[in-house]
Amino acid sequence: MDSGVRVNPAGTPESQTTEGGSSGLSLYVHIPFCETKCHYCDFNTYAGIEALIPGYLSALETEIRFWGRGLSRPKVSTVFFGGGTPSYVPIEGIEAICAAIFEAFDVDDGAEVTLESNPGDYSRHDLTRYIGAGINRLSIGVQSLDDGLLKSLSRRHDAETAIGAYQSARQAGFENINLDLMFGLSDQTIEQWRDSVACVIALRPEHLSLYALTLEPGTPLDAMVKSGEVADPDPDLAADMYLYAESALGDAGFDHYEISNWSLPDRESRHNLAYWLNAPYLGVGPGAHSYLPNRRFAALRSPRRYVDLFGGVLPEGDPVEALSSLRILESVEPVTATMELADTMMMGMRLSRGIRTDEFLARFGTNISDVFGPLIDELSGMGLLVSDEVGIRLSNSGHLLGNEVFERFVTASAEVTLPGNY
Ligand code: SF4
Repeated sequence: MDSGVRVNPAGTPESQTTEGGSSGLSLYVHIPFCETKCHYCDFNTYAGIEALIPGYLSALETEIRFWGRGLSRPKVSTVFFGGGTPSYVPIEGIEAICAAIFEAFDVDDGAEVTLESNPGDYSRHDLTRYIGAGINRLSIGVQSLDDGLLKSLSRRHDAETAIGAYQSARQAGFENINLDLMFGLSDQTIEQWRDSVACVIALRPEHLSLYALTLEPGTPLDAMVKSGEVADPDPDLAADMYLYAESALGDAGFDHYEISNWSLPDRESRHNLAYWLNAPYLGVGPGAHSYLPNRRFAALRSPRRYVDLFGGVLPEGDPVEALSSLRILESVEPVTATMELADTMMMGMRLSRGIRTDEFLARFGTNISDVFGPLIDELSGMGLLVSDEVGIRLSNSGHLLGNEVFERFVTASAEVTLPGNY
């Protein structure tokens, strides 16, 4: 499931305003539990450790209150429960965590609060309770609307359950729903993909995330493909599926605002926009990454160790140093100007709006053309980039070669010297 936390953007001044008018932190809450582990998944999530859930929720609450105190109850503009499967833990636990967040942080009145969910995990009554707890955006891991493909992905639900979950969410009052779909699956045909896309268009969610299957090293699916048990996904067919979705969703009124994401007007994921605009965020839970001004850090990955350590005494003082001293934070590094520049370029270029000239100047004190002029000219000449007075962005053909373009900007960033007052 998409959590947003696996991206790794750089820090930026806390006062920076992100698109959508938010100016506070984005808060990511990691829930590392799944009923079963899907065989393509390499996220930091586990099946069969349900006995840990009560202790985990208590440790998570402790961490949330710790950061609220340590950062002097900062403003928060978006909250995202990801994982893992947040809808798999008892609803009382989610309610308690929401209450702790609203107490410990100054959450905007209009904050976007998202919960990732698996179809079939909840009833309409549960959905009403989520709304009562402050959750106003539901992300549903549909993945496919073909029962055979769902089975081959080792998902626990079928297409009917996924559609039923969406309809229940609407009936419960959710007015902002994301559906996740996967494409480029082994043995998936373009007809199956067209059917799934047509079905989600008919449902008319506010937001769609479409992800190509990637074979992550060490996953059971990777081993199955290597052994020949499962067919190797065809990248050319995956590209055709992507182009088909781009066209069909465009015709249906969805804005392709980020490489893997589409939305109805003004319904972009504000939480993920904060990552792509390289704004600050705090992640809580094992394996969560954070980016505060001038520092980025990541927590230890083991849920069990996380529970043990948050059960002990927490030192006073700077919260990053305090959690580092306990080894709850495994890596802490300063954000250099080069890192911030590279991350701003790499993440911002994912957006269809690209990097805006005025925002670049305001952030780095210099013109983007003075920093990357020759590279912009070269990539524009290759037809991969569009450049005008508003800014730079990927061209249509650049979308399919996005990683190569990002890499060029990251490499070029390492050679740049920014103005001294930056
Ligand atoms: S439900 Fe999502 S997070 Fe859990 S194992 Fe499957 S893909 Fe991974």
